[in-house]
Amino acid sequence: MKLGLHLYSDELRFEVHLTDSALHLIHLHRQFADAQKAEACGIIIGEIRSKSLRVIDISSPADDDERTIYSFHRKSTKHQSYLNKVHEISNGILQYIGEWHTHPEPQPRPSNCDYQGWSQLISNGKFNELPKLLWIAGNKSYKEDWFSLLLNKKYYALRVYEGDTL
Ligand SMILES: [Zn+2]
Repeated sequence: MKLGLHLYSDELRFEVHLTDSALHLIHLHRQFADAQKAEACGIIIGEIRSKSLRVIDISSPADDDERTIYSFHRKSTKHQSYLNKVHEISNGILQYIGEWHTHPEPQPRPSNCDYQGWSQLISNGKFNELPKLLWIAGNKSYKEDWFSLLLNKKYYALRVYEGDTL
């Protein structure tokens, strides 16, 4: 049995492994239908290898983010300071690997605002060297979440694979 969730991009031949702890952390912020929770957002933190990413941790929403049920803006500086702290404690092994946020729908799809926000990240040249993970968590389960890799201004689909080998 494999723990966590494995995603794969056929085009990039690139693997993403979401650990159980990362899945659990995201789950805490899902906008379940009965709870009028605001959208949440943060940074995805993990290990980068040559052909894979391993998601270990996320930064949690902060009080000074701008949040409503249908929108978010990762405004707080706490995400960056949390990332810096984790980076230091792990001797540089854990680093920024992407962005996550929630949607109040079971099968989330990116909005125009989402693409706009990500394109601002792209304008930072350093951002394009390695694939970055984008994760929209719906109000159901990770099985229906939206995942994508962003590399050189292109979005690459990720598929879930359940077997032991690719
Ligand atoms: Zn969104």
